Amino acid sequence: MQRIAVFPGSFDPFTLGHKAIVEEAIDLFDRIIIGVGYNNEKRGLVAPQKRVRLIEDVFKGNEKIEVQMYRGLTADFCRECGATFLLRGVRNAVDFEYEHNMQLINERLYPELTTVLFFTPPRYAAISSSIVRELVYFGGDPTQFMPDEIKLKDYL
Ligand code: ADP
Repeated sequence: MQRIAVFPGSFDPFTLGHKAIVEEAIDLFDRIIIGVGYNNEKRGLVAPQKRVRLIEDVFKGNEKIEVQMYRGLTADFCRECGATFLLRGVRNAVDFEYEHNMQLINERLYPELTTVLFFTPPRYAAISSSIVRELVYFGGDPTQFMPDEIKLKDYL
């Protein structure tokens, strides 16, 4: 049986922290589906279709990784993908509390799903999509927090 993992998130935008999680996980699974969750009410910085395309560029040539957009419950998306692992990143105690709660809920919704948490490398621990969004909003340059494949002009 294939070990399929979903890495869900808003990825608005995808940062070096997110990339580090995928790189740590890649050898542990046969396939990783990066799920870009979106919500019609929340506009965000980058349109969901574009988030998908930018993340695809980051992992171009890696056949184990695919990127999909989804709406609704993450547990349902994992089930539809045939995934039995859910990947998340943890930067600090606040993330841990949140991820622990989500794990308890997801286990109720889809008992076959195992949540796997990865600790972020310390150099990426301060990076968040919301900080990148804020930098862009105030005219700063967030490129040092972004994978090389993603350029600032992609957001403007
Ligand atoms: P969500 O809106 O679902 O929290 P995000 O795109 O903000 O989605 O994050 C997706 C996942 O990546 C979450 O598990 C989050 O904790 C993790 N993450 C975000 N930034 C980092 C980082 N710098 N290092 C490691 N993990 C991170």
